[in-house]
Amino acid sequence: MQPFADEQELSCPYCGEEVEVQADAVGPSSEVYVEDCPVCCRPWTVSVSREGAEVFVSLGRDDD
Ligand SMILES: [Zn+2]
Repeated sequence: MQPFADEQELSCPYCGEEVEVQADAVGPSSEVYVEDCPVCCRPWTVSVSREGAEVFVSLGRDDD
């Protein structure tokens, strides 16, 4: 258990598999980075936004 990371269950925008995405609970109010899906290895665009103690994560496709 990592106290400063937030894990969210999301589905991969490419293969639809449920995946656990970990985002740091502390960081800029919004950031975007690229991470590969552990199932299909295609690159997600991970958008993280933070409001107080809440962390919101969404996954997008790189080819949108
Ligand atoms: Zn995938």
